[in-house]
Amino acid sequence: MIYLRLLFLVFFFGAYSLNAQNLRVNVFSQTKIGSLKVDALNGSYQLHSRNGYIADFTEGQSLSIYLNSSGKIHLSRNGEFLGLYDTLLMLQSSHLDYLNFKPRSKSSLKLKARQYEGDFEISSIRNSIAIVNIIFTESYLKGVLASEAGIRCAKEYYKVQAIISRTFAGNNKFKHSEEGFNLCDAVHCQAYFGRYQGESLDLTSGIKETYGQVLVDSNQNSFPTFFSANCGGQSAETDQVWNHLLPNYLSHNDTFCIHTRQANWEKYIPKKELLNFISKNYFFDVSKKKYRDLVFNFTQEGRKTFFIHPSYGIPLRDLRSAFKLRSTYFSCEPVGDKVLLRGRGFGHGIGLCQEGAMEMVRLGFDYKAILAFYFRGSKLSLIGTQINHW
Ligand SMILES: [Zn+2]
Ligand SMILES: [Zn+2]
Repeated sequence: MIYLRLLFLVFFFGAYSLNAQNLRVNVFSQTKIGSLKVDALNGSYQLHSRNGYIADFTEGQSLSIYLNSSGKIHLSRNGEFLGLYDTLLMLQSSHLDYLNFKPRSKSSLKLKARQYEGDFEISSIRNSIAIVNIIFTESYLKGVLASEAGIRCAKEYYKVQAIISRTFAGNNKFKHSEEGFNLCDAVHCQAYFGRYQGESLDLTSGIKETYGQVLVDSNQNSFPTFFSANCGGQSAETDQVWNHLLPNYLSHNDTFCIHTRQANWEKYIPKKELLNFISKNYFFDVSKKKYRDLVFNFTQEGRKTFFIHPSYGIPLRDLRSAFKLRSTYFSCEPVGDKVLLRGRGFGHGIGLCQEGAMEMVRLGFDYKAILAFYFRGSKLSLIGTQINHW
């Protein structure tokens, strides 16, 4: 019993201590799960409820989990009923053990199976099954890097991404604390689609060789780390995308990303649609030709925050989301009854430019030089040393 209480203390509070370096990550966070099958693929787990040990769950066995009509977790193993529970814990016997999760949504849609390592807490939240994966930060990072950067990058790039993602996890560990976990597995936090199954030593050594390293500012305050695919040759400032200005994110030029895959884009939009959108939402007067011409001939030599002129109050980020544009960094040109948008970059353009960083790696820059280029005013620190605001 004492052992169990201790376990709960570790689960609920350990995640918030930096030394424990355990994270609670809500997985399959984008779906309401109605039922779940779990296979023990490697090693063995112990199943516990809040009242104690239930059973072992070993390699080759399968669990079936669903919520009964009173919202309890109905648990069976290889067809044998094991009981009804409020919360179910699955505890790893060794850190190499992992499970395969095959959930179905509440509308019975089969979701793609994913493998996870670490421990799990399964509970019922708002009448669907919530899965929290309790995992060491460094193991979580493997899954994040594979999901966010893919599996074909160079080791030096993985080092950059590992430091950014590790810093992000520390900076955002209270983002979901009211819901009982640290981070979700979606882009809202960082994409994390399960344990890394590839064999690239570059990814794993990128994490190992930067073990515990995070970015801080000169006062040892945590440094916010953002990244996007391609900044279009000039990084954006945070108030161009969100509502607040972070002083460390002054715009700077980036010549490393201007000849890469996602450097440029084009999109045609019917003139009518664009005019309708800005007249309806911002009361822009489209009845006069001289105003329509301003719309059709808008240009950006350098990144702007507003369309046409700040006095009209039309944020470019609104156009980006309304017309699903790759970036806010575009210029217009009238072509018949359409407007041709010629844009640069992909994503919000703040912080690390992934394609620029990959090009820097190709040119021989090391991860420290890359981080210094994209996160100005930052320096490396180690988890475990005093970091303010963590
Ligand atoms: Zn989140
Ligand atoms: Zn860039």
